[in-house]
Amino acid sequence: MSESKAKGLKKELFSKKKNAGFIMSENEIKKADDFCNEYKKFLDIAKTEREAVCETVRLLEENGFTEYDFKKDLNPGDRIYINNRNKAVIAAIIGRDSAEHGFRINAAHIDSPRLDLKQNPIYEDNQIGFFKTHYYGGIKKYQWTTIPLALHGVIINSKNEKIEVKIGEDENDPVFCVCDLLPHLAAQQMKRTLSEGVKGEELNILIGSRPFKDDEESEMVKLNIIDILNKKYGIVEDDFISAELEAVPAFKAKDIGFDRSMIGSYGQDDRVCAYTALKALIDCEVVPKKTAITVLTDKEETGSDGNTGLNSSYLKYFIYDLAEKLGVNARQAISASECLSADVNAAFDPTFPDVLEIRNASKINYGVCVTKFTGSRGKSGTSDASAEFVARIRNLLDSKNVIWQTGELGKVDLGGGGTVAQYIANLNIDVIDVGVPVLSMHAPFEVTSKIDTYMAYKTFKVFIEN
Ligand code: MN
Ligand code: MN
Repeated sequence: MSESKAKGLKKELFSKKKNAGFIMSENEIKKADDFCNEYKKFLDIAKTEREAVCETVRLLEENGFTEYDFKKDLNPGDRIYINNRNKAVIAAIIGRDSAEHGFRINAAHIDSPRLDLKQNPIYEDNQIGFFKTHYYGGIKKYQWTTIPLALHGVIINSKNEKIEVKIGEDENDPVFCVCDLLPHLAAQQMKRTLSEGVKGEELNILIGSRPFKDDEESEMVKLNIIDILNKKYGIVEDDFISAELEAVPAFKAKDIGFDRSMIGSYGQDDRVCAYTALKALIDCEVVPKKTAITVLTDKEETGSDGNTGLNSSYLKYFIYDLAEKLGVNARQAISASECLSADVNAAFDPTFPDVLEIRNASKINYGVCVTKFTGSRGKSGTSDASAEFVARIRNLLDSKNVIWQTGELGKVDLGGGGTVAQYIANLNIDVIDVGVPVLSMHAPFEVTSKIDTYMAYKTFKVFIEN
């Protein structure tokens, strides 16, 4: 008797969160799988921030968005975008409501950890050719050795011509790699700590080994490589100085598991949120009440500084200009705005359970993760969303049958991390982190759940449609 009363009370009072696989219909799971097939294509096409902008603009234009110049008048339903230096994009659908009631913003980032070439990258050592690199973002350096790497980016030559580079993606392309020591001779290396196992200056990319044949000069391997590059791209050694070349994993996005429930790919932090936030805007089925904005930003992985990062003014300027154009006070419009800072969180990994506090960790397949605060050591470096705003998002997601969970980035004082949320909050906008849990975050091959990815898409969509 008392047992069944307890059971009833538990049902009524305890949290009802569970694995989405138990909740979703077969039909909805199929929708998630179909959605992720398109997402995988985006991952393969958009491996760098520049490529993400290029593909985003293509998708926007295909769906009725036009590049905006602020001389033109705006009307509800207008679909516009601006391209910030080919590294960040803001797209918007003008809403029906007066802009003085604010905008709805989904903000994700399109830069990912990688190996950037240094400005004098090319050298020869003992008749082997290499590129020097400086890693971008937080990486475990040893993970970037002995995997096939592709080279993406741009070179601006002395005539100011832009040369686009993408080698290693086509089936017939060569690839590159960073070498590591054989275990037989690694006794000393194995004594290094894991963080020093491979050092920053050891991340040298193997790029060639055959000498230029004609005569016996020095640096014949380097000469042969530059000669090949000169014939292919018309460049000389000094052109690397004005280049941005990024080495990224050369493999493609794949389904993971016998049940194909997960996706493995490079760059899912944060293209899983960038793609879902972009698609949410493109697929917006109504002329939204409030002007809906999706921002895909650069430089999050290095702290959001720089003119294409969200610590710069480009989002603020866009909102100010939009508000003025729509005839309202810009400060009022920005202060009444709301934002989902769309970024990934650390999924609980049963192999490494100690770093997460299980009651507050996000789990794959439990839906999109709502993160009230990020930061580290006493919540420093976070915006910490208000209870009021958490409630607003919680109730919205529940009312629209979006499966969601909460999560934090690791145990107290064990580490932590930040997102763009704080920079948006500093503009006096209500903001909260929402995104997809990721296994092996920042590794060359990151893992997400298809269901969680689909729930992120639904989240960003119901946020702007309601
Ligand atoms: Mn991120
Ligand atoms: Mn990250």
